[in-house]
Amino acid sequence: MRSKIVAGNWKMNKNIKETNQLLEELMKAIPETDAEVMVAPTFVNLATAVTAVKDSSMQVIAQNMHFAESGAYTGEISADMLLAINIDTVILGHSERRAYFGEDDALLAKKVVAALDKNMRIVFCFGEELEDRKSGNHFKVVESQLKNALFALSNASWDSIVLAYEPVWAIGTGETASPEQAQEMHAFVRTTITNGFNQDIADKVSILYGGSVKPGNAQEIFSKPDVDGGLIGGAALVAEDFAAIVKAI
Ligand code: PEP
Repeated sequence: MRSKIVAGNWKMNKNIKETNQLLEELMKAIPETDAEVMVAPTFVNLATAVTAVKDSSMQVIAQNMHFAESGAYTGEISADMLLAINIDTVILGHSERRAYFGEDDALLAKKVVAALDKNMRIVFCFGEELEDRKSGNHFKVVESQLKNALFALSNASWDSIVLAYEPVWAIGTGETASPEQAQEMHAFVRTTITNGFNQDIADKVSILYGGSVKPGNAQEIFSKPDVDGGLIGGAALVAEDFAAIVKAI
Protein backbone atom coordinates (compact mmCIF):
# COMPACT_ATOMS: atom_id res chain seq x y z
CA MET A 1 0.00 0.00 0.00
CA ARG A 2 1.32 3.41 -0.93
CA SER A 3 1.31 6.21 1.67
CA LYS A 4 -1.32 8.85 1.12
CA ILE A 5 0.24 12.23 1.77
CA VAL A 6 -0.94 15.81 1.94
CA ALA A 7 1.92 18.29 2.24
CA GLY A 8 1.64 22.05 2.63
CA ASN A 9 4.39 24.20 1.16
CA TRP A 10 4.22 27.53 2.96
CA LYS A 11 6.93 29.09 0.77
CA MET A 12 8.12 32.53 2.01
CA ASN A 13 5.01 33.16 4.09
CA LYS A 14 4.24 33.44 7.81
CA ASN A 15 6.48 34.96 10.46
CA ILE A 16 7.05 33.14 13.73
CA LYS A 17 3.87 34.38 15.40
CA GLU A 18 1.78 33.58 12.34
CA THR A 19 3.46 30.18 12.06
CA ASN A 20 2.48 29.25 15.60
CA GLN A 21 -1.04 30.51 15.02
CA LEU A 22 -1.53 28.58 11.80
CA LEU A 23 -0.14 25.41 13.38
CA GLU A 24 -2.55 25.77 16.32
CA GLU A 25 -5.44 26.19 13.89
CA LEU A 26 -4.30 23.24 11.80
CA MET A 27 -3.99 20.94 14.80
CA LYS A 28 -7.57 21.75 15.71
CA ALA A 29 -8.97 21.57 12.18
CA ILE A 30 -7.26 18.55 10.65
CA PRO A 31 -9.38 15.45 10.99
CA GLU A 32 -8.12 12.04 12.11
CA THR A 33 -6.59 10.42 9.08
CA ASP A 34 -4.43 7.54 7.93
CA ALA A 35 -2.73 9.92 5.52
CA GLU A 36 0.56 11.56 6.35
CA VAL A 37 0.17 15.29 6.85
CA MET A 38 3.23 17.48 6.35
CA VAL A 39 3.84 21.20 6.57
CA ALA A 40 6.86 23.11 5.31
CA PRO A 41 7.32 26.50 6.98
CA THR A 42 10.33 28.73 6.25
CA PHE A 43 13.75 27.76 7.60
CA VAL A 44 13.76 30.27 10.47
CA ASN A 45 10.52 28.87 11.84
CA LEU A 46 11.25 25.17 11.49
CA ALA A 47 12.59 24.54 15.00
CA THR A 48 9.66 26.35 16.58
CA ALA A 49 7.23 24.45 14.37
CA VAL A 50 8.73 21.09 15.35
CA THR A 51 8.14 21.92 19.00
CA ALA A 52 4.65 23.24 18.35
CA VAL A 53 3.45 20.03 16.67
CA LYS A 54 5.27 17.53 18.88
CA ASP A 55 2.04 16.08 20.31
CA SER A 56 0.33 15.80 16.92
CA SER A 57 0.94 13.48 14.00
CA MET A 58 1.71 16.41 11.71
CA GLN A 59 5.22 16.32 10.26
CA VAL A 60 7.32 19.43 9.78
CA ILE A 61 9.49 19.28 6.68
CA ALA A 62 11.95 21.64 4.96
CA GLN A 63 11.45 23.44 1.66
CA ASN A 64 15.03 23.00 0.48
CA MET A 65 18.59 22.19 1.53
CA HIS A 66 22.15 22.43 0.24
CA PHE A 67 24.09 19.40 -0.95
CA ALA A 68 27.25 20.09 1.04
CA GLU A 69 27.76 18.90 4.61
CA SER A 70 28.97 22.33 5.75
CA GLY A 71 31.26 25.11 4.59
CA ALA A 72 31.41 28.40 2.77
CA TYR A 73 27.91 28.50 1.30
CA THR A 74 26.49 31.76 2.61
CA GLY A 75 22.77 31.64 3.20
CA GLU A 76 22.45 27.89 2.84
CA ILE A 77 21.24 25.10 5.15
CA SER A 78 22.63 21.57 5.38
CA ALA A 79 20.98 18.22 5.95
CA ASP A 80 22.74 17.91 9.32
CA MET A 81 21.26 21.23 10.44
CA LEU A 82 17.79 19.98 9.59
CA LEU A 83 18.34 16.63 11.26
CA ALA A 84 19.61 18.39 14.39
CA ILE A 85 16.16 19.94 14.83
CA ASN A 86 14.38 16.65 14.03
CA ILE A 87 13.50 17.42 10.44
CA ASP A 88 14.06 14.35 8.31
CA THR A 89 12.14 15.23 5.15
CA VAL A 90 12.95 17.85 2.54
CA ILE A 91 11.26 19.16 -0.59
CA LEU A 92 13.69 19.25 -3.52
CA GLY A 93 13.23 20.49 -7.05
CA HIS A 94 10.29 22.81 -6.53
CA SER A 95 9.63 24.73 -9.73
CA GLU A 96 10.25 28.04 -7.96
CA ARG A 97 13.73 26.81 -6.97
CA ARG A 98 14.29 25.74 -10.56
CA ALA A 99 12.96 28.96 -12.10
CA TYR A 100 14.18 31.67 -9.69
CA PHE A 101 17.30 30.12 -8.21
CA GLY A 102 18.71 28.30 -11.21
CA GLU A 103 18.41 24.81 -9.73
CA ASP A 104 18.88 22.42 -12.61
CA ASP A 105 18.71 18.65 -12.85
CA ALA A 106 22.44 18.23 -12.19
CA LEU A 107 22.30 20.28 -8.99
CA LEU A 108 19.16 18.47 -7.89
CA ALA A 109 20.83 15.11 -8.46
CA LYS A 110 23.54 16.21 -6.00
CA LYS A 111 20.98 17.36 -3.46
CA VAL A 112 19.07 14.09 -3.75
CA VAL A 113 22.23 12.07 -3.11
CA ALA A 114 23.17 14.31 -0.17
CA ALA A 115 19.74 13.91 1.43
CA LEU A 116 19.73 10.14 0.93
CA ASP A 117 23.25 9.86 2.36
CA LYS A 118 21.80 11.33 5.55
CA ASN A 119 18.82 8.97 5.48
CA MET A 120 16.45 11.81 4.78
CA ARG A 121 13.19 11.43 2.95
CA ILE A 122 12.67 13.54 -0.15
CA VAL A 123 9.57 15.05 -1.72
CA PHE A 124 10.91 15.45 -5.25
CA CYS A 125 9.05 17.95 -7.45
CA PHE A 126 9.02 17.98 -11.23
CA GLY A 127 6.68 19.14 -13.96
CA GLU A 128 6.47 20.76 -17.34
CA GLU A 129 6.00 24.39 -18.30
CA LEU A 130 3.06 25.62 -20.29
CA GLU A 131 5.02 25.71 -23.57
CA ASP A 132 6.02 22.09 -23.06
CA ARG A 133 2.41 21.05 -22.70
CA LYS A 134 1.26 23.17 -25.62
CA SER A 135 3.91 21.66 -27.85
CA GLY A 136 3.13 18.14 -26.67
CA ASN A 137 6.53 17.75 -25.03
CA HIS A 138 5.27 17.33 -21.48
CA PHE A 139 5.96 13.61 -21.21
CA LYS A 140 9.45 14.03 -22.62
CA VAL A 141 10.25 16.88 -20.21
CA VAL A 142 9.00 14.99 -17.16
CA GLU A 143 10.85 11.86 -18.20
CA SER A 144 14.12 13.74 -18.51
CA GLN A 145 13.66 15.53 -15.17
CA LEU A 146 13.17 12.18 -13.47
CA LYS A 147 15.99 10.45 -15.31
CA ASN A 148 18.52 13.23 -14.76
CA ALA A 149 17.92 13.57 -11.03
CA LEU A 150 16.81 10.14 -9.87
CA PHE A 151 17.80 7.37 -12.24
CA ALA A 152 21.32 6.86 -10.93
CA LEU A 153 19.90 5.89 -7.53
CA SER A 154 19.88 2.42 -6.03
CA ASN A 155 16.62 0.51 -5.83
CA ALA A 156 16.67 0.84 -2.03
CA SER A 157 16.77 4.64 -2.25
CA TRP A 158 13.24 4.67 -3.56
CA ASP A 159 11.92 3.82 -0.09
CA SER A 160 12.88 7.40 0.83
CA ILE A 161 11.38 9.14 -2.18
CA VAL A 162 7.99 10.72 -2.65
CA LEU A 163 7.30 12.26 -6.04
CA ALA A 164 5.29 15.42 -6.63
CA TYR A 165 4.09 16.14 -10.16
CA GLU A 166 3.57 19.88 -10.37
CA PRO A 167 2.83 21.27 -13.81
CA VAL A 168 4.36 24.74 -13.63
CA TRP A 169 1.40 26.30 -15.44
CA ALA A 170 -0.89 25.18 -12.60
CA ILE A 171 1.16 26.45 -9.66
CA GLY A 172 -0.34 29.49 -7.98
CA THR A 173 -2.29 30.31 -11.11
CA GLY A 174 -5.71 29.02 -10.10
CA GLU A 175 -5.52 26.79 -13.15
CA THR A 176 -5.50 23.10 -12.23
CA ALA A 177 -4.59 20.14 -14.34
CA SER A 178 -7.77 18.21 -14.87
CA PRO A 179 -8.01 15.01 -12.83
CA GLU A 180 -7.58 13.15 -16.13
CA GLN A 181 -4.41 15.09 -17.02
CA ALA A 182 -3.02 14.39 -13.55
CA GLN A 183 -3.86 10.70 -13.76
CA GLU A 184 -2.38 10.45 -17.25
CA MET A 185 0.93 11.94 -16.12
CA HIS A 186 1.07 9.97 -12.87
CA ALA A 187 0.50 6.73 -14.79
CA PHE A 188 3.24 7.78 -17.22
CA VAL A 189 5.61 8.41 -14.29
CA ARG A 190 4.90 4.95 -12.90
CA THR A 191 5.62 3.38 -16.28
CA THR A 192 8.85 5.39 -16.54
CA ILE A 193 9.94 4.11 -13.12
CA THR A 194 8.96 0.56 -14.02
CA ASN A 195 11.14 0.80 -17.11
CA GLY A 196 14.06 2.38 -15.26
CA PHE A 197 13.84 0.24 -12.12
CA ASN A 198 11.02 -2.24 -11.64
CA GLN A 199 7.29 -2.57 -11.20
CA ASP A 200 7.51 -3.06 -7.45
CA ILE A 201 9.27 0.28 -6.95
CA ALA A 202 6.85 2.01 -9.30
CA ASP A 203 3.87 0.57 -7.45
CA LYS A 204 5.21 1.58 -4.05
CA VAL A 205 6.24 5.18 -4.69
CA SER A 206 3.69 7.82 -3.67
CA ILE A 207 3.06 10.38 -6.38
CA LEU A 208 1.47 13.63 -5.23
CA TYR A 209 -0.19 16.16 -7.50
CA GLY A 210 0.47 19.87 -6.97
CA GLY A 211 -0.97 22.90 -8.71
CA SER A 212 -3.89 24.95 -7.41
CA VAL A 213 -5.40 22.13 -5.34
CA LYS A 214 -8.28 23.60 -3.34
CA PRO A 215 -11.06 22.18 -1.17
CA GLY A 216 -13.36 22.27 -4.19
CA ASN A 217 -11.23 20.15 -6.51
CA ALA A 218 -9.18 17.98 -4.14
CA GLN A 219 -11.54 15.06 -3.89
CA GLU A 220 -11.86 14.55 -7.62
CA ILE A 221 -8.09 14.78 -8.16
CA PHE A 222 -7.35 12.43 -5.24
CA SER A 223 -9.89 9.91 -6.51
CA LYS A 224 -7.63 9.04 -9.45
CA PRO A 225 -5.86 5.71 -8.96
CA ASP A 226 -2.31 6.97 -9.43
CA VAL A 227 -2.71 10.17 -7.41
CA ASP A 228 -1.60 9.50 -3.84
CA GLY A 229 -2.12 12.94 -2.40
CA GLY A 230 -1.18 16.53 -2.94
CA LEU A 231 1.48 19.17 -2.50
CA ILE A 232 -0.45 22.28 -1.62
CA GLY A 233 0.73 25.90 -1.87
CA GLY A 234 -1.78 28.71 -1.44
CA ALA A 235 -4.50 26.63 0.21
CA ALA A 236 -2.00 25.36 2.79
CA LEU A 237 -1.93 28.83 4.35
CA VAL A 238 -5.58 28.72 5.37
CA ALA A 239 -6.25 26.16 8.10
CA GLU A 240 -9.83 25.51 7.06
CA ASP A 241 -8.85 24.92 3.43
CA PHE A 242 -5.88 22.69 4.22
CA ALA A 243 -7.99 20.67 6.65
CA ALA A 244 -10.67 20.25 3.98
CA ILE A 245 -8.03 19.00 1.54
CA VAL A 246 -6.77 16.51 4.15
CA LYS A 247 -10.36 15.40 4.62
CA ALA A 248 -10.64 14.86 0.87
CA ILE A 249 -7.85 12.30 0.92
C1 PEP B 1 3.22 24.59 -4.92
O1 PEP B 1 3.83 25.64 -4.85
O2 PEP B 1 3.80 23.53 -4.71
C2 PEP B 1 1.80 24.65 -5.26
C3 PEP B 1 1.23 23.54 -5.64
O3 PEP B 1 1.19 25.86 -5.14
P1 PEP B 1 -0.38 26.16 -5.37
O4 PEP B 1 -1.15 25.10 -4.61
O5 PEP B 1 -0.59 27.53 -4.78
O6 PEP B 1 -0.64 26.11 -6.82
